Amino acid sequence: MQPPPMGNERPRPQHQGVPGRPVSAFVPGAAVAPAPPSFGAAAAPRAPFAPPGAAASPAGAPFAAAAPPAAMAGYRGPPPPQRPFGAAPPPQGPFAAGAPPPSPFASAPSSQGPFGTAPPPSQGPFTGVTPPPQGPFGTAAPPPGPFATTPPSQGPFASAPPPFRPPPSLTQPQSPTAGAMAPPASYVRPPPVQSQPPPPVQGYYTGPPTANPQFPMSRPAFQQPVQTMPPPPMAGFGNQAAYPTAGPPTGTLQSLVEDFQSLSVSSAPGSLDPGLDIKGLPRPLDGDEEPVKVLESYPSNCHPRYFRLTTHAIPASQSLVSRWHLPLGAVVHPLAESPDGEVPVINFGAAGVIRCRRCRTYINPYATFADAGRKWRCNLCTLLNDVPGEYFCAIDPSGRRYDADQRPELSKGTVEFVAPTEYMVRPPMPPSYFFLIDVSVSAVRSGLLEVVAKTIKSCLDDLPGFPRTQIGFITFDSTLHFHNFKSSLSQPQMMVVADLDDVFLPLPDDLLVNLVDSRHVVESFLDSLPNMFQDNVNVESALGPALKAAFMVMSQIGGKLLVFQSTLPSLGNGRLRLRGDDVRAYGTDKEHTLRVPEDPFYKQMAAEFTKNQIAVDIFSFSDKYCDIASLGSLGKYTGGQVYHYPSFQAVTHGDKLKHELSRDLTRETAWESVMRIRCGKGVRFTTYHGHFMLRSTDLLALPAVDSDKAFAMQLSLEETLMTTQTVYFQVALLYTSSSGERRIRVHTAAAPVVTDLSEMYRQADTGAIVSLLSRIAVENSLSDKLDSVRQQLQLKLVRSLKEYRNLYVVQHRIGGRLIYPESLRFLPLYILCMCKSLALRGGYADVSLDERCAAGFSMMILPVKSLLNFIYPSLYRVDEVLAMEPDRIDGSLKRLPLTMQCLDTGGLYLLDDGFTFLVWLGRMLSPELVNSILGVSLANFPDLSKIHLRECDNEYSRNFMKILRTLREEDASYHQLCRVVRQGEQPREGFLLLSNLVEDQMAGTSSYMDWILQIHRQTQS
Ligand SMILES: [Zn+2]
Repeated sequence: MQPPPMGNERPRPQHQGVPGRPVSAFVPGAAVAPAPPSFGAAAAPRAPFAPPGAAASPAGAPFAAAAPPAAMAGYRGPPPPQRPFGAAPPPQGPFAAGAPPPSPFASAPSSQGPFGTAPPPSQGPFTGVTPPPQGPFGTAAPPPGPFATTPPSQGPFASAPPPFRPPPSLTQPQSPTAGAMAPPASYVRPPPVQSQPPPPVQGYYTGPPTANPQFPMSRPAFQQPVQTMPPPPMAGFGNQAAYPTAGPPTGTLQSLVEDFQSLSVSSAPGSLDPGLDIKGLPRPLDGDEEPVKVLESYPSNCHPRYFRLTTHAIPASQSLVSRWHLPLGAVVHPLAESPDGEVPVINFGAAGVIRCRRCRTYINPYATFADAGRKWRCNLCTLLNDVPGEYFCAIDPSGRRYDADQRPELSKGTVEFVAPTEYMVRPPMPPSYFFLIDVSVSAVRSGLLEVVAKTIKSCLDDLPGFPRTQIGFITFDSTLHFHNFKSSLSQPQMMVVADLDDVFLPLPDDLLVNLVDSRHVVESFLDSLPNMFQDNVNVESALGPALKAAFMVMSQIGGKLLVFQSTLPSLGNGRLRLRGDDVRAYGTDKEHTLRVPEDPFYKQMAAEFTKNQIAVDIFSFSDKYCDIASLGSLGKYTGGQVYHYPSFQAVTHGDKLKHELSRDLTRETAWESVMRIRCGKGVRFTTYHGHFMLRSTDLLALPAVDSDKAFAMQLSLEETLMTTQTVYFQVALLYTSSSGERRIRVHTAAAPVVTDLSEMYRQADTGAIVSLLSRIAVENSLSDKLDSVRQQLQLKLVRSLKEYRNLYVVQHRIGGRLIYPESLRFLPLYILCMCKSLALRGGYADVSLDERCAAGFSMMILPVKSLLNFIYPSLYRVDEVLAMEPDRIDGSLKRLPLTMQCLDTGGLYLLDDGFTFLVWLGRMLSPELVNSILGVSLANFPDLSKIHLRECDNEYSRNFMKILRTLREEDASYHQLCRVVRQGEQPREGFLLLSNLVEDQMAGTSSYMDWILQIHRQTQS
């Protein structure tokens, strides 16, 4: 036992496992311990900052005191009656206590009811105008489905194989025509459809002429859609005059190419050729396509990076919503990096923030002025408001204020308002960072402590909020170690509390201190931290009591709590069972319970944290099961995030941890924030998806939020028929900046209301749809089997494409082709990718439970671009560019389709999903090149799992490392862990690379081509 360097007594092991002693160890010179307050009592007195009335709240009603910014003047009145957490969850929130809601779609209008309301069989779900049933998500397994009501001869869907089950080998006779009686198996040849030759336009879509006969190395030359094309009239689509700019009609199909894409899936009769040109399949090799074209029609909108709708055409009627089939909603990334410089900051001064008197909308470019400039009309609720005298300006004959161009709030979609004091319930808090660090034996042995201590120390100068920043630490194993950072000390003092049942603070102050004042004490602590516990053999973890202690320290100020956990919590409240993964649970009604917290403790703690403006980030490092499902809920409900480093070893994962922790500590952060999204009459956001706590029906509580967090939400129509022509949206994030200013960031956007389904498809945004769908799917996996979740995704896709097909197919005799809107050309692949993602793929054996849950937590917060790259990673061939001039390399890297067929055995490839780099060495790759990059010869049979790539003194290595650096700089939110695998090296190649080649068939999943054939058949039924 090594004595701690600061001369304080650490308890000898005899204290371990003796809970119940009120004070097991104490430090000489420490302040007299106050009477241990109970946990509940500690939370109650919040006098200095408590909003009026909070003190009177019952201590047992956490939300009672939760009147933080929500209740501020400015937001739509006070929050609804306060309720104890858990007693009355917000109506639609995924954040209600207890089991997750049965379905995010559950709040959809009743007209979109469950399958029971499917139209009568004789009618067929898609024949009339009757909206097909909607909302299969979250409901029980969809087997019968609306498709089952179709006459069997046309309805292969019901018997169609889910994406992950080998199809039953049915032997029904094949019909010579597509659609009827298509073979259900995806792996057999497709129906020999359409004996006529394919339409002339086919060649247009089958990929570019490419020099490489093997495979196209760049994305197929899909023609960009003609965006300026006016929408075709709903009725009489075939009327060619509807396309004045398209020139004279030149052929049935050709004139339509702007509206839809199609893939020929016809094969010659009797041929074994599937008839699908795999090279011509659409692939998102340019990543996310931000719908910036919206800004052409709506230049006053905020940039789509902040706010994007799943379709930039709001349906005018409920029946259109039903026929759209895809989720209607939005993705919001409130603090995204600004695409065009600084966000303008506006201080209204004496006039106060200009807002609508009735609906509290902030003044924005879509507001109109009347009465010679003395009134302004709210674009959301149409109320005519007075213009304050200080804000008055005359208007020109067109009604525009003369100063509109000088005022960003009247000309820009994104602005930030300085909030006056009425937007505060307490003085803006200083940024505060509190660290809860597991120092049990595994944390010490893995090298974790050293990396964490060094990284934090290296970030001290860059923590936001200088000179007000606060900092503090608690370390723990089977006991809790408090550290006194009083500025008059030369070294920190450690106090140990072994009573886990009745946690108390042995020192009322100086546990969370001003960084400037106590800098030398904090540095001294971080320098000694790795050695302090180097001989610790304690294997226990009292995380729950440590969380309570941290809460007691932080509850007055709020801030960020960073938890470093390297083993399963084993002592005190919140101890978790080694429930692990249970293969028997898969495929049963119990399967989802593996993916949700078992002990309500973590969720309850999360509620307490949020209420007190504390965001929790979890860094998990265990080499064994550590119940990410439970731990992660701390991040999920507090606006935090989950970092997972399975089997952490400093030598391998140290860089990744260092970068990600630094990013977490130094990125600009918005504190004690709340977000609300208002929308115009007739529409309403019903469910929200991301990491936050829902306070009241539409107010998202975010103790901290930063540029790495995005949110998604579903929209529904409140009226059966919309009468307005435009719908407006306004995102408002009220927060405290690190400098201590109260700010409101406001994003405003407008979207047209349409009566035409094809226009909804034309304006669809695949990135937003995938973002929203994947969050819904991850949430559904918390209440349903993975298999059902995947089937539901497939069902959405099929219904949507089928509906689209019905718009065009009859007039244009395109029976043998899979048709889809240009805007959704990547959707089938992305949905396949979702089904194959870490969070949703396979079953028991395919992904470890913790890894699956961690991926799920990440997918809930990732911005669109990162999410798309996570599920369809970037693959590059690298060896060919390594000899180039460094300046030419970036432009020469081309993304490749994710299939084995792209990999040449003589090549070196790099796969990047944003979290991991995988370097794949082809079997025939030149040994010299391998040697140059790895710094070791493969002839020595090095253990590639332990290879740590460093820059070697040669051109190849320098260029290679430069490529890695460039890719990492593109998105700094995570740091890719670099792993190397050699072709044929099993099983590593399998789980590192092959499982990421999402276009290939593997382990019972469909290949991209099979998937398209399957979807095609199902849309024809
Ligand atoms: Zn209004």
